[in-house]
Amino acid sequence: MEFKNIMDKKLIGKIFLLGTSFSVLSYFVTSETYANVMPFSGSTRVTQTAHADGYGLRAIDLGLGAGTPVLAPANVTVIATCNAGNNHRAIKLKADDGTFYSLIHVYSTNIQKGQRFQQGERIGTVASDKPWNKCAKSTGIHLHFGSSSPVVDNVNIRSVRLNTVIQSSN
Ligand SMILES: [Zn+2]
Repeated sequence: MEFKNIMDKKLIGKIFLLGTSFSVLSYFVTSETYANVMPFSGSTRVTQTAHADGYGLRAIDLGLGAGTPVLAPANVTVIATCNAGNNHRAIKLKADDGTFYSLIHVYSTNIQKGQRFQQGERIGTVASDKPWNKCAKSTGIHLHFGSSSPVVDNVNIRSVRLNTVIQSSN
């Protein structure tokens, strides 16, 4: 009986260790799948280096053509959206990890505050017009992308150089 108790304790110890290693493993898997990514698929060039935007974020401009799908950079909630006219939007997102993102010059007919997007889900497309008002000023077709995180998809958006080709993981 005494012997059996010792065996039970050893077994419990092993089960505990196994449980711990699974927790550690799932932590890494979760971190990896949760990493933020660029808001498009494929690659594009930086057409303007770090600049401030109306949502208080540092941002870069991406040389994406009109109609290119704009994808969620993380699992996010829309916390602000402004229509500059003709469904040309400025959008602010908050990710589940607390990171803020801005996407400006996005064409979307139906986006709303409080709406949820999972990473990679299509938010809209790059707008084809060039409005000039307080929430969207544009002299050429592009996507403006800002973040409270200095690094997105392994790119430091505060120091990346003009014309750098960015490869998205999205
Ligand atoms: Zn911009």
